[in-house]
Amino acid sequence: MFQDDTISAVATAIGEGGIGIIRMSGPDSISIADQLFIGTSGLTAAKAASHHVYYGSIADPESGQKIDEVLLIVMKGPRSYTRENVVEIHCHGGPVPLRRILELTLRFGARLAEPGEFTKRAFLNGRLDLAQAEAVIDIIRSKTDASLKLAVNHLSGHLSEVVRNIRDKALEMIAHLEAAIDFPEDDIEEVTSQQVDEQLVPLMAQLDHLLATAQTGRILREGLQTVIIGKPNVGKSSLLNALLREKRAIVTDIPGTTRDIIEEYVNIRGIPLKIVDTAGIRETEDVVEQLGVQRAREFVDKADLILLLLDSSLPLAEEDKQVLELLAGRQALVLINKTDLPQKLDMPEIMQYSKGYQVLRISVENGTGIDALEEAIVERVYSGQVTQSEGAFVTNVRHITVLRQAYQHLAEARNTIAVNMPPDCIVVDLRAAWERLGEITGDTAGEDLLDQIFSRFCIGK
Ligand code: GDP
Repeated sequence: MFQDDTISAVATAIGEGGIGIIRMSGPDSISIADQLFIGTSGLTAAKAASHHVYYGSIADPESGQKIDEVLLIVMKGPRSYTRENVVEIHCHGGPVPLRRILELTLRFGARLAEPGEFTKRAFLNGRLDLAQAEAVIDIIRSKTDASLKLAVNHLSGHLSEVVRNIRDKALEMIAHLEAAIDFPEDDIEEVTSQQVDEQLVPLMAQLDHLLATAQTGRILREGLQTVIIGKPNVGKSSLLNALLREKRAIVTDIPGTTRDIIEEYVNIRGIPLKIVDTAGIRETEDVVEQLGVQRAREFVDKADLILLLLDSSLPLAEEDKQVLELLAGRQALVLINKTDLPQKLDMPEIMQYSKGYQVLRISVENGTGIDALEEAIVERVYSGQVTQSEGAFVTNVRHITVLRQAYQHLAEARNTIAVNMPPDCIVVDLRAAWERLGEITGDTAGEDLLDQIFSRFCIGK
């Protein structure tokens, strides 16, 4: 299984920093480092002890030119991230020394690593399963402490353990059924089928439990898509700015988009709120007015949560009613803003129009009601579910899809039993569930799926 080429990449972020790291993995990594590294008192990479730090310099062997002073760490397989021989060269964190040292490793026999290739090798060499490898990227991209906690939980293999357990049970049932097929007497087949049916119930409950965590998990991982709507001057920008001023989590640039879209994440007690089209709200006076009700509907359709602002110092306008109508059947909170001003809004009328939505009275101006708003958001995300510290939490859309399909196959197996089909038909359903679940751990993942997953990583990871 081990790869016969050696890969190399800059492992640290691009730009200036205190240190930068070039990482190599593969059979030649130590011999390549050996040609470039000159240790103090003549130590070479080939003689370096595993997992020790050595001080020295990197020089171009052809010109003799010294490139930078470095620290060298050799990690001999299998005690390394990839289980292969890994060498890290820690140099000064500037783009030029990093590029020069990377070029030297390439000139002396390494190949530039593809995105995620170190982690892919860790997976291929059995160091991590697929769900754990995906957790690595989730840790890097986590947006709040709560999302980090979930990702670390996945890295420790919790989800894989639950999934493996379900797979093992399915396999036992298959074996049981196949043994029964070899007995010609009908009643043995029937008894076995009934036993399998009983065992399927708790197994499906387990999958169901995992799926119940999925919505919350996805939100913690990817952020709650939130849109703030309301008529002009109601206080949308003020609310957004107030949240950003106090709660800004992280700002991510999305490369490759024509406009420089900046996604803003606001951290509401561990829940990353992803405010949709922030720039749009801030630059234009009003989303509804500028884009029309049609576009407002598109925003609303994509959102996990809609914050509708109404102005308590004005009577309910026709526009407000239109927007309230847009919300039918959506996750929305109605926020009555400007409660610090004399009240003109007719509350009974509001309650009639905001059928069943939670209505909160706030004043962005003096900060009242913002705590209650946060509480309402948290409650919505965790509504009636286990808290994130308990057990495995499904966060990944890919995993959710696989779990749903596996559940479906098990339901079909029960169906097959109910209509008295022969055991080999039940086996077909069980095997399908077993196969699908293997895509989470990577036991049954094809090359396409692996490429798709690892290409989302950055180079050097
Ligand atoms: P937008 O057009 O919906 O984005 O509204 P803005 O956020 O630009 O706010 C319009 C005006 O209302 C600004 O002058 C704000 O200072 C003011 N405003 C916003 N929230 C409040 C509030 O809670 N109370 C009062 N009195 N004024 C507010």
